[in-house]
Amino acid sequence: MPELPEVETTVRGLAPVLLGRRLIRVEARRGDLRRAFPPDLRQRLTGAQVTGLGRRAKYGLVETDRGDTVIFHLGMSGRWRIDPAELGTHDHLVLATDAGRTLALNDPRRFGSVDLVKTEEAGNWPAFRALGPEPLGDAFDADYLRAALAGRAAPIKALLLDQRIVAGLGTISVCEALFMAGIAPGTAGGRISRDRLRRLVPAIKEVLLSAIDAGGSTLRDFAQPDGALGYFSKQFLVYGREGEPCRCGAPVKRRAEGGRSTFYCGRCQR
Ligand SMILES: [Zn+2]
Repeated sequence: MPELPEVETTVRGLAPVLLGRRLIRVEARRGDLRRAFPPDLRQRLTGAQVTGLGRRAKYGLVETDRGDTVIFHLGMSGRWRIDPAELGTHDHLVLATDAGRTLALNDPRRFGSVDLVKTEEAGNWPAFRALGPEPLGDAFDADYLRAALAGRAAPIKALLLDQRIVAGLGTISVCEALFMAGIAPGTAGGRISRDRLRRLVPAIKEVLLSAIDAGGSTLRDFAQPDGALGYFSKQFLVYGREGEPCRCGAPVKRRAEGGRSTFYCGRCQR
């Protein structure tokens, strides 16, 4: 599933194709993904110029000169294909620019979404209203996290996945950051010391930034025809490595709960 680094990489990869360009064709090739496409999507976007791209949590943002913002989510399997040679059954939304480029939002499982809001109201969009700070922003620091976790008995892993506490973290980033900070995923959030939070916050930022770097280094592939923006593979320290040796020599453990897996080292994380 695409996490924050994939969405950030996707937005950075879309920028050279879309920024400053006018959309000359907007075609929804079915009525919905996870939910219906906005009925006025085509009318509001056709002829509009793209004035900005951005990201909030795991959503990508495309702003136009008409004061509209497209908000897209890649769901479980979404990706943007660039200049596809031909369109397939899973290409659900097609955008063409005045520079002759074509983008197709491809999403076989259709858990993604596309919404259209007034840019000035985007901050109040329901999915954004309750979001916590961006993990890469300055507002997300050890003091903030300490206050947000105060008195919380839930496991730190679950609390870091709570989008109201910090926006956009996924299970991969959280497993990796907890490993780097040496914190056991089941530790009650409110019981983690200030010193350990001072290790955890930079670990979260480092995990995200190094994944974004890895994504950025794959962007040159997307410049090719039929390139696709979305998932890219990375090397992890513990995620997906059950039974393999941790750097300390102990085997990486996996615990499954509610369809999600937690990967950790029982020796390095306390
Ligand atoms: Zn270890």
